[in-house]
Amino acid sequence: MLERYSLPEMKRLWSPEHRFQKWLELEVLACEAWADLGRIPPEAVREIRERARFDVGRIAEIEAVTRHDVIAFVSCVAENVGDAGKYLHLGLTSYDIVDTALSLLMRDALDIILQAVDGLRLLLADQARQYQDLPMVGRTHGVHAEPISLGLKFALWHAEMGRARERLEQARRMIGVGRLSGAVGTYAHLDPYVENYVCRRVGLIPAKVSTQVLQRDRHADYLAALAVTAGSLEKFATEIRHLQRTEVLEAEEGFAAGQKGSSAMPHKRNPITCERISGLARVLRGNGVAAMENISLWHERDITHSSVERIIIPDSTTLLHYMIVQFTEVLRQLQIYPEHMKQNLARTHGLIFSQRLLLALVAKGLSREEAYALVQRQAHRNWPDGDFLAALKADPAIGQYLPADEIDALCDARHYLDRMDYIFWRAGLGPAPVQYWESMIEVVAAGQGHAQAVAKGELLYEGKAKQMYLTSNPDLVWVSYKDEATAFDGLKKDTISGKGALNNRMAAHFFTLLKAAGIPTHFVRLLSPNEMLVKRVEIIPLEVIVRNIAAGSLSKRLGIEEGQALLQPAVEFCYKNDDLHDPLVTEDQIIALGWADATRLQALRSQALDINEVLRSYLDTKNLILVDFKLEFGTHKGMLILADEISPDTCRFWDRETHEKLDKDRFRRDLGGLIPAYEEVWRRISGE
Ligand code: 5GP
Repeated sequence: MLERYSLPEMKRLWSPEHRFQKWLELEVLACEAWADLGRIPPEAVREIRERARFDVGRIAEIEAVTRHDVIAFVSCVAENVGDAGKYLHLGLTSYDIVDTALSLLMRDALDIILQAVDGLRLLLADQARQYQDLPMVGRTHGVHAEPISLGLKFALWHAEMGRARERLEQARRMIGVGRLSGAVGTYAHLDPYVENYVCRRVGLIPAKVSTQVLQRDRHADYLAALAVTAGSLEKFATEIRHLQRTEVLEAEEGFAAGQKGSSAMPHKRNPITCERISGLARVLRGNGVAAMENISLWHERDITHSSVERIIIPDSTTLLHYMIVQFTEVLRQLQIYPEHMKQNLARTHGLIFSQRLLLALVAKGLSREEAYALVQRQAHRNWPDGDFLAALKADPAIGQYLPADEIDALCDARHYLDRMDYIFWRAGLGPAPVQYWESMIEVVAAGQGHAQAVAKGELLYEGKAKQMYLTSNPDLVWVSYKDEATAFDGLKKDTISGKGALNNRMAAHFFTLLKAAGIPTHFVRLLSPNEMLVKRVEIIPLEVIVRNIAAGSLSKRLGIEEGQALLQPAVEFCYKNDDLHDPLVTEDQIIALGWADATRLQALRSQALDINEVLRSYLDTKNLILVDFKLEFGTHKGMLILADEISPDTCRFWDRETHEKLDKDRFRRDLGGLIPAYEEVWRRISGE
């Protein structure tokens, strides 16, 4: 690796001394394993441990004669160990050591890279937040499209580096294997115990099957992950290079005091670091291809891969680390020019607002084709020269629908940033847009009123808290909330007048909130104080419980004090079966029993966590803590949606200050005052 593109941590990692140190560690561990098996005397292992060392110069001397690096290494170590040296490398083939050590080095290299990725992500998150509302033009095909914000670009990069992290971690698992299986992978002169002992001691998993080597699809996968990450960095760097073009000049790489851009042109300030990053990404892609060439070794191995790997693995890890660190610095020093962004937004005299104008005309009653033609005519007439907005305002065909002041109001870049809060929340970069959802609740509720009339049919099912009826529409079910309260799988029972209506109202409110936040549920509309219309679903026989704070059965089962906050929301699954008391079931068991496959489980988990995020942040603004809750899901026309109810019957709500229980625990624990508690929740969420 070229000195100029190496940073100290990686240089040390790939140094000959460090590699030999790993080899030594593995050789000694193999001796320990043999001692466990009684094949080497324990005193000999002690002697080996104490005296084993190497000298890089001496290894080179021996290698000049043997032309074999591992033999040279073992001979050098044996020279230092003395008599016990004869036990070194017992039953091993060179690649038992070389390949296992390579896995260790590759794993450790990734740890250095992952740390750099984390640093870059932190900075991207900061920059995204800082420029969340700074408008600039968005470009597709390099041509002005519609306004975006600079922060959105950074948020996108932040998410992309999150995926890079996942990909690199996956590569870390793929390479986290070792092998000591002998010359052709048969353990003919080795005991699998040795492999297991050595690998487990250094944190690797023994490969299930190997030849003389670990199979190179693993290494190719690793280098592909590096190359894809480099590709992302190249994209970011290319973006900055474009933004730094003289004609654009919305951002510029920092220019250090004393720096010079050109030997001939004193004015030059060039995006050289970004260009270097773009260039090096090409090397990583090339190395990725070379790693793929290495997959098809002959028979139980040939050595064509070895020379290639001596170059590409240290080089790619070193380069990627360097690129991430360099790009982080570029971002830290980046000069931003908001004035130029503003000028560029105005450069097309309003063309970038064409879609909004088109939609406004459609809203006024024109067909889409008519509106499109009107806007396009002026757009083309005034391109590349001319004033689109002025022409639009002077066009009587448009003026009869959109007066000039409306056109001006529509052509506001800030409108395009309205959903930034939502995107930033989804990207984990900002708080939940609760105010926006709240403002949408009424809009959504109004839309729900438009649903078709249906007639109530036969009773379909009666549960503890609800009755479900068929309707004249086979896709819809009529739900009637009962006043019954039950606990402990129906052992404790009571009728509490007014509970059904309260739960019906609250469930409708929460379902509407979720819809406003973009999450589909089975709720269609309210029918009466204690009835609602829902989509008919095929119910999945699982309760999905999400917990934010320890309480209830979790506290009881694990002896954890109620009220202890969990470090992150915890999802658990229970099998819906009253006779068995809805027992807890693991994800593996769910898959093994065929109740849901891994993909569906992942979908359940992610939907439940999304719902938790919405409810939790919403309730927080109502001074309520969402302690935990239970969800049920079903499929409607093949789509997974939230079913059942969300209410104080299925959630634990505590007052934020007093931790007073405002949910069904009042009934379960004989605390009394259930209706006033439910009314209090309703009062807070509805503002009534
Ligand atoms: P836990 O497992 O602590 O008893 O309950 C966790 C959360 O899920 C609580 O908010 C509780 O109300 C809800 N939950 C769990 N199982 C059921 C159930 O069978 N019916 C209802 N209504 N809620 C449940």
